[in-house]
Order: sequence, then structure tokens, then C-alpha cells
Amino acid sequence: MNTFDFTAIRRDFPALQQQVYGKPLIYLDSAATAQKPQCVIDTVNDMHARWNANIHRAVHYLATQCTERYEQARETVRRFIHARATQEVVFTSGTTAAINLLAFSFGERRIGAGDEIIVTEAEHHSNIVPWQLLCERKGATLKVVPVDPAGRLQMDSLAALINERTRLLCVAHISNVLGIVNPVKELVRLAHTHGVPVLLDGAQGVVHQPVDVQDMDCDFYVFSGHKLFAPTGIGVLYGRETLLEQLPPWQGGGDMIASVSFAKTSFADLPLKFEAGTANYIGACGLATAIDYLQAIPLAAAHRYEQELTAYTVRRLSTIEGLQVYGEKAPKTGVVSFTIAGVHPLDMATILDKSGVALRTGHLCAEPLMRRFGVSGMLRVSPAFYNTPEEIDTFVAALKTAKKMLVGN
Ligand code: PLP
Repeated sequence: MNTFDFTAIRRDFPALQQQVYGKPLIYLDSAATAQKPQCVIDTVNDMHARWNANIHRAVHYLATQCTERYEQARETVRRFIHARATQEVVFTSGTTAAINLLAFSFGERRIGAGDEIIVTEAEHHSNIVPWQLLCERKGATLKVVPVDPAGRLQMDSLAALINERTRLLCVAHISNVLGIVNPVKELVRLAHTHGVPVLLDGAQGVVHQPVDVQDMDCDFYVFSGHKLFAPTGIGVLYGRETLLEQLPPWQGGGDMIASVSFAKTSFADLPLKFEAGTANYIGACGLATAIDYLQAIPLAAAHRYEQELTAYTVRRLSTIEGLQVYGEKAPKTGVVSFTIAGVHPLDMATILDKSGVALRTGHLCAEPLMRRFGVSGMLRVSPAFYNTPEEIDTFVAALKTAKKMLVGN
């Protein structure tokens, strides 16, 4: 393993210091939601205690301070994902909300009967269902790019699916089940050759890789704060300014208007056009603190360490008889999903929980992918840079003991 100092990092995360059932917590469910460093907790507390006032409205001191912090948070996000302008950074409540915003707004302006939207077999439900609902509303068709037995996107099939009716390609940056990093630049290039815009679901991607939306050349990139060590209830929709300009607002209300009359309402400029109602300004400031935190640690080394820890997990699990890891074994980023012959994932997860090991089980919000691999559910561990090789060892030992209890060997 590289020299990344996870011992110091762990001290920043109070949730990791606790015991469950009298055992040290081994938190291996960061792909579902990450734990928060103390500085993020402090920001949220401090905002509630001292700086709370509604933004973009009043002229009083607290309101001005709070507005400034919110807009600074937008600039922090802009720099982090290397967007051209803060107009391209829309705060939402999370990845799901950002995709739904697009499904309504982009869908309203750009999708009609007979049009096609392409998703992949490996998407999270959040990047399937909003498009399915849109297709139903508009009489459009959802097309699906299959994955091969190793879980990789079948690029030939994608090339064959794109045609003059295709209006949007929606793909995960990193799969939340397989830990596969999709070839996003190649996907974008291919789609753009046909004039098709691309939405990247970065819920997992933004956590494990540097994100440069200009370099990737994607049209939309969405992610959730809570997986990036920030509070829940805050997320981001990045959109290319020229595209966002053309799209109608999704929700109407305060803050998204320029002027309202019963005869006609005009809308605020970007990005506020898409931020109706009181924004989660405290969440946004928490997200900015999380990003500042990430930029203060050696992030490239942290990413490398996560990759190594994931590879170590795969190696340790691969020695267990009857255990199948899904998707190519290497490189894998951030998540390892598996089943054990004769063991129901829920039974295993319940026993592991009593050993203090927190992992995810079930369909992992990716039922089509479960079906593709012929299973109803999997177990998933998702190590972050605050986990240690010793924790992986303890988890694997607990897994072996539980397996013996359940299947006798
Ligand atoms: N997309 C991917 C790839 C995810 O992993 C997740 C969450 O697990 C989501 C979308 C949905 O994120 P949220 O529930 O924060 O909106």
C-alpha cells in the first residue's frame, strides 16, 4: 500500500471512533453514504448557530453573509469540477433530484414522440426510472446498452443504437455495483459525433477520481454531496451553459424568477432559474467544506490508496470458496459486489452486522444489472480512504466464520 496516512485521516471522522454491539465499527458502506469529517459537522452546526438567514432575499447582515457563503460554495464546486462558470453549477438535493430536474426540463424542451434516450444496463435506478417516466409521458423509447460478462459496456452495441432519433445518452461515470470506470471520454466523443448530448451520473465517480467536466466534454454531470463526505440533502447538476440557457425551469417558486405578474412571469438568470424555493444553503456550505477538506489532504494519494484497498479486498475475497465477485476484478474502483453460493446476502449481512461490519446488501438499486447476472441481490463492500487493510482482514475473517455457520464450510 502507498504511504497514505489513513491513521491521521480516521481521527477526522468521529463516526469511525464508535463501537456497535460492543465491537469497533467497520464501516464499509461508503458508496451508500460516506461518513463526515469533523470540519463538515462544524460548518453545519456553525451555520445553524450563527449564520442562519434565508439567502438571496433580505438585505440584513446575516442574510448577506449567508448568501455570500452560498455563492462561495458554488464557486468552490465550480473549481472542483472545473466548470467554466458558476452559472453552470446548479444546487439540487442530490443526484436523483438533478436527474429528475433534467428529465423534466430537458425532457420538456428536447424530447418528443418517437425520440430515443439511451441508458445502460449497469445504471442505478436513479438514472433509469426518470427517463422511463419521461418516455411514457412523451411517447419516446428507452434504449439500453448491454454489458458484457465482465460488466463492461458493449461499445459496439452503443454505436449501433445511436441514430438520428437519439436525443440523450445517460451513463454512470463509475458503476455503483461493479466499480467499473466507464470510458467516459470515448462515450462522449461517440455521442457528440452524432450530435447527441451526454449526461454522466457522477454519484460514485466524483468520489474516486478528479472530475474535469471540460476535459470530459460531457454536457451534464450530476452528483450527491453525502457520498462526498458532505451533508445529505445537497447535490449538484452541472450543465453546459449553452444547453442550460435553452432549457425551461422545472419547478416554479421563489428565487427562480426575475419578475412575476398574472399576465407573465420572467425567470432569473442561470443558475437560479433552476433553484426554486429556499435552497439548502447550509448543505451547500457543508459541501464546500467537504471539498476544502479533500483538497487539503493528499487527494491523489487517497484515490490511489482506495484503489489499492479495493484491489486488496478483491484478492482477500477471491480465496473464499463459492464466492463470486461481479464485474472485472481489476481495475475496480470503490466498490466490490459479490455473492456466495448457498448464502442469502441478507442472512450474511445480518450476521456481519453483529460483528460490527456495515456493508450493503440487496439489489443495490440496480435490478436490471442483478437480472443480467442472474441474481436477486448481492453483498457490497465499498472501502473509502478512511478504511484500513486490518479492517478488511477483520471483515473477511467474520465473513468466513459466518459462511461456516450458514453452509458448513
Ligand atoms: N447514481 C449512482 C451511481 C449511485 O450510486 C447513487 C446512490 O447510490 C445514485 C445515483 C443516487 O444518489 P442519491 O440517492 O444521493 O440521489
